[in-house]
Amino acid sequence: MKCPYCGAADTRVVDSRPVDGGLAIRRRRECGACGRRFTTYERPQLEPLMVVKRSGRREAFNPDKLLRGLLLACEKRPVDPEQLKKFAYTFEDRVEGPEITSEEIGRRAMAFLKTLDPVAYIRFASVYREFDSVERFIEEIRALEEGGE
Ligand SMILES: [Zn+2]
Repeated sequence: MKCPYCGAADTRVVDSRPVDGGLAIRRRRECGACGRRFTTYERPQLEPLMVVKRSGRREAFNPDKLLRGLLLACEKRPVDPEQLKKFAYTFEDRVEGPEITSEEIGRRAMAFLKTLDPVAYIRFASVYREFDSVERFIEEIRALEEGGE
């Protein structure tokens, strides 16, 4: 970390201790160039991932909602629900940045389902209205039947 006083990159941690009952770490750093000290705090980021919906409205990401969609798509299909749970509950960890569009969530979920079960994939894709026409939908099913992309 750079020194906030002189901008030198050469700073070192001289003291590190848990604070807030262990919920944060306080570090004292010293600049090797100007010798000044400053404090940093490291705490978990508690703001939820925000989903930007088609309407432009935002809501907090809900892994249960994603899981419900996946489970529905995989109903009576030979898919291990544990895999779906793992995908839904680790989804947030794979998103960079504070928000994601609902379309992007749908795309990622579809890419995931495509590797698990073709029927589940088609079901999910149709729910998320990824196909803009019936023709496009049929094309996609044909492609799967032929074993292609
Ligand atoms: Zn400095």
